Amino acid sequence: MKHRGILAVVSGFSGAGKGTLMKNLVNQYDNYALSISMTTRLPREGEEDGREYFFVSKETFEEKVGQGGLIEYACYCDNYYGTPKEYVENQLAMGRDVLLEIEIQGALKVREKFPEALLLFVMPPSAKELENRLTGRGTETPEVVSKRLRRAVSEAQGIENYDYIVINDDLEMCTQELHSIICTAHKSVGRNEEFIENMRQELNVLVKGEK
Ligand code: ADP
Ligand code: 5GP
Repeated sequence: MKHRGILAVVSGFSGAGKGTLMKNLVNQYDNYALSISMTTRLPREGEEDGREYFFVSKETFEEKVGQGGLIEYACYCDNYYGTPKEYVENQLAMGRDVLLEIEIQGALKVREKFPEALLLFVMPPSAKELENRLTGRGTETPEVVSKRLRRAVSEAQGIENYDYIVINDDLEMCTQELHSIICTAHKSVGRNEEFIENMRQELNVLVKGEK
């Protein structure tokens, strides 16, 4: 029987490197399915509808919410972002590990709905390096950069809700760390109840046969 996949929620301050890490994981290993969120924010240069996000109007977003089509959604720096339900549920049922790259309010809603979800927080090596990455990316105006840094201050208050932090200093090392945490989660007792129960039954049969 195929095991259900792990729902891995990855959050972190804007500019910490979440998007880069997610691409690395999906490119390097074949057990991951990366959920594509729906958003009302405008595409950045180089972003494509259906690849980085489903870019939609506020009306379409609200319609999707009304239909119960999102697992969670949140407002982040004046735009809505949400996780489409169908893809995530199908992929988990197929045994693939699903990556949700979402902010903290959404992560907490996912934890309520899926208590077994694994919550991971990506940290930059320092606050200064975060600012360098965010400005170095060159995709936001100085006003938006400063809004996102202020948002990081409040997000930092919620890190204790997560299971693990990973520090994204060396990109490759951090990718490996994320992968190994998710691999380890597959070995948890709670995720192997069926195997444990089967072993108990086999042992009982074996011991009875010995008499
Ligand atoms: P997020 O998705 O968390 O907002 P990005 O993945 O867009 O962050 O990364 C922000 C910027 O930092 C990008 O320009 C990216 O190339 C760069 N970056 C990501 N990880 C590292 C790293 N380990 N070292 C140096 N730069 C990085
Ligand atoms: P960005 O505009 O930089 O792509 O994303 C802004 C923030 O929204 C990031 O923290 C990102 O993780 C988060 N985000 C992206 N998709 C979703 C989503 O579906 N739900 C929630 N709650 N947050 C999301």
